[in-house]
Amino acid sequence: MKPFDVYPLFNIEPVKAQGSWIWDKNGTRYLDLYGGHAVISIGHSHPYYVQKISEQLNRIGFYSNSVQIPLQQELAQKLGSLSGYENYDLFLCNSGAEANENALKLASFHNGRKKIIAFERSFHGRTSLAVAATNDSSIVAPVNENANIVFLPLNDETRLEEAMSDQVCAVIVEGIQGVGGVRLPQKYFLQKIKSLCEKFGAVMVLDEVQSGYGRSGRFFAHQFADVSPDLITVAKGMGNGFPVAGVLTSEKFKAKHGMLGTTFGGNHLACAAAIAVLDVIGKENLVENAANIGEFLIHEISKTEGVKEVRGRGLMIGIELEFPCRDIRSELLTEHKIFTGSSSDKNTLRVLPALNISKKDALIFIGALGKVMQKMLVK
Ligand code: PLP
Repeated sequence: MKPFDVYPLFNIEPVKAQGSWIWDKNGTRYLDLYGGHAVISIGHSHPYYVQKISEQLNRIGFYSNSVQIPLQQELAQKLGSLSGYENYDLFLCNSGAEANENALKLASFHNGRKKIIAFERSFHGRTSLAVAATNDSSIVAPVNENANIVFLPLNDETRLEEAMSDQVCAVIVEGIQGVGGVRLPQKYFLQKIKSLCEKFGAVMVLDEVQSGYGRSGRFFAHQFADVSPDLITVAKGMGNGFPVAGVLTSEKFKAKHGMLGTTFGGNHLACAAAIAVLDVIGKENLVENAANIGEFLIHEISKTEGVKEVRGRGLMIGIELEFPCRDIRSELLTEHKIFTGSSSDKNTLRVLPALNISKKDALIFIGALGKVMQKMLVK
C-alpha cells in the first residue's frame, strides 16, 4: 500500500522543528511563515506543550465520551475566559470541517430550517455540508451538491437583505477569509448579518477555524466588529498540530443527549494539547504579539515594490502581488529557505506565522521578500 496521492508535495522532509524554525533531514533550516496551513499557533515543539502532552500520555491518552473527563471542563473554562465567551458551551470534535458540519447541523436542529447563506470565495472544509458551503466547485463531488446553499458576495448588504427570510437556517462567514485570499468581512457587514439573523430567527455561524485563536490580534477576528455570533467554530491553532476542534454555542442552544457526537472528540490527549495552547497564549501574551508583529509586517510589506495590496489583520496576512505568486513562493523557499502559503487567488501569497514570531524573524522575511521581488521585477 502507498499513500493516496492527492497532495502536490515539496521535496523537503522536515525532521525537527522549534518555534518558527524547521530543519529538514539534510540539516537545512527553514523559517516557517505558514505554520502548515495556519496550524502552528504557539510555535513548533513549545516545551510546555511537549511536557503537558507527554505527561498526559503517560497517564491516559484516550477514553471515549462515556466517562468523566474533567479536562474538558478545564478546557472549556479556559477557552471561555481567554476568548471572552464565558457563557457559551463547547462541543469538541477533531477538524475544522467537522466543527462547521456540526455547527450547521446544530443550527438546523435549532430552527428546523434548511437554507444556508455562505459567501463567494468561502472555504469551510471538505465534508458533505461544509464542502457544499465552500465556494469551489472543483472540490464538490456530485453527492455533495446541495440546493440549500446560496452564495452571496462578501460585504454586499443589499444582496444579503434581499436573500434573508424566515426560510434561512444559517449564515456562515469566516472571521477573515483565508483560502479565498485573505479578505475581511467589514464591521458593518458582520453587524448586518447579526441583526438580520436576529430579525429572521436564523443562526449566525462564525468560522474562526483559521482566523481564530489570536491570529488576528484579537482572540477571534470577528471581535473587531463587536458582534457575538450564535455559533463559533475553531480548529487549526487550537491544538498547535494536535487534531482538535470545537463549536462554541451561545445560550440559545440547549444540548440534548445524542444530538451530536464523535468517538475521538474531547479525548484526554486532545484536551491536554488544547489546554497547553491556551495556557501559553495567555502566559506569553501571544494575542498582543500577533497584533504588534502583524502591524509591523503589514506596514513593511506594503512598502515592497511589486506588492499591489496587503490584506489581513495581525498574523493573518495576504500579500497581493502584481503577478502570480507561484514563482515568488518557490524562490522564497528554495533560495531563502522560507515557507509561505498560496491561496485560491493566484496573485495572493498567504503569510501565517506562529503567534510568537519575533521581530527579528519577521525582518528576515521582509528582507527576503524585497530581494525576491527585485529579482522578479528586473526579469
Ligand atoms: N474553515 C476554514 C476557514 C478553513 O480555513 C479550513 C481549512 O483550511 C477549514 C474550515 C477546514 O478545516 P480542516 O481542514 O481542519 O477540516
